[in-house]
Amino acid sequence: MTYFTGLRCVHCGREYHADEVDYFCPACGYHDGILDALYDYDSMRKEINPATLAGNGNRSMWRYLPLLPIADQTLIPHLQVGWTPLYDAPKVAGELGVARCWVKDEGRNPTASFKDRASAMGVVKALEKKASRITCASTGNAASSLAGFSAAAGIPATIFVPARAPEAKVAQLLIYGAQVFSVQGTYDEAWELCMAAAAEFGWYNRNCAINPYLIEGKKTVSLELVEQFRTLTPGSFPDWIVVSVGDGCTIGGVWKGLKEMHLLGFIPRLPRILGVQADGCKPFLTAWRDNCGLAPCDANTLADSIAVGHPRNFSKGMRAVTESGGAFVSVSDEEILGAIPMLARKAGVFGEPAGVAGAAGVKRAVESGIIGRSETVAIIMTGNGLKDIQSAIRAAGNTIAVQPDMEEVRKAVNTAVTV
Ligand SMILES: *Cc1c(COP(=O)(O)O)cnc(C)c1O
Ligand SMILES: [Zn+2]
Repeated sequence: MTYFTGLRCVHCGREYHADEVDYFCPACGYHDGILDALYDYDSMRKEINPATLAGNGNRSMWRYLPLLPIADQTLIPHLQVGWTPLYDAPKVAGELGVARCWVKDEGRNPTASFKDRASAMGVVKALEKKASRITCASTGNAASSLAGFSAAAGIPATIFVPARAPEAKVAQLLIYGAQVFSVQGTYDEAWELCMAAAAEFGWYNRNCAINPYLIEGKKTVSLELVEQFRTLTPGSFPDWIVVSVGDGCTIGGVWKGLKEMHLLGFIPRLPRILGVQADGCKPFLTAWRDNCGLAPCDANTLADSIAVGHPRNFSKGMRAVTESGGAFVSVSDEEILGAIPMLARKAGVFGEPAGVAGAAGVKRAVESGIIGRSETVAIIMTGNGLKDIQSAIRAAGNTIAVQPDMEEVRKAVNTAVTV
């Protein structure tokens, strides 16, 4: 059963019953009135504790049902989301200059990104509402993920992506059968268009920043991390959890999940959160450093998944870093490109630019003294490298062209040109 009790506005603190509101606080509007899902943690302890979870055979995000806002389990789509691997990555730790480093490979989800945790939740909520259609705007991964989960749940989907979305993500959208609007503009413009269309046509809105349930899906990555560390390194937990930041929903979900596991007694202390942005698009970093409000900016980075000039979940994203005593850093596109082969060669994990940005961010944070060399980090690698082949190719180096002739191979091996 679920211990979900209702929703609270992060801005004005008003509380609502789940059936009183769909998405955001009506008093504050969708810019400010983001809602937080509430639970009865005291009652849930007998159902969610280390012993009950250890005996739970469900190897997906749904093993945490009491901590999720879902009443009817029969609506859960069949695709397996979550329980992604967590790898100890000593060579990456050496490269980044930290004592120990783990990588959680979220590229292993059904549509190859972290967004599947949110989409799985989104389609359940749409089915609960008996929605005729579900929609979202996305830099690419939320879209391809929603397309996949809509197909699995049998709900039509309409998707708004900026024209620059990488081809592989667009291919996913079309293959899963979504109706796709390629907006000749930025992600921010696609977002506004989607919001207007959802309101006008009455479609269910999967935009993570305004739909309070999606972060509940995203937080499951932290619930897993905590459980996986209990097995891997009993009694200890990394000093830092690292994730790249666009709209701020992912980092907000990560932090909520950690706080819940702390509240439920799974971890003795909370880690700090490192939010990583791109040099060419860092509204969170700017606001955090200057201790001021959000100033939307341009989005100049090849890491399309975090090319978000106007973050839609500013409050939850900012809270993750300030409450945890963490930090924001930014990295250049060159550093991001360099992190793709680094992570692939030192840990065997192939990520897209925004997926590996976290790793690049750790290096920056160590160099600038934010993360100490004796500290430990867990990097959430958010998306698979095959999502953006153009960037991977730029980072990868070249093949060695030969005729089908052993003599040419011999020559190349002996002169050891490129390896
Ligand atoms: C969406 C996304 C992010 C950032 O998540 P936000 O909720 O927008 O902050 C990071 N990496 C990848 C691969 C993503 O798709
Ligand atoms: Zn409010």
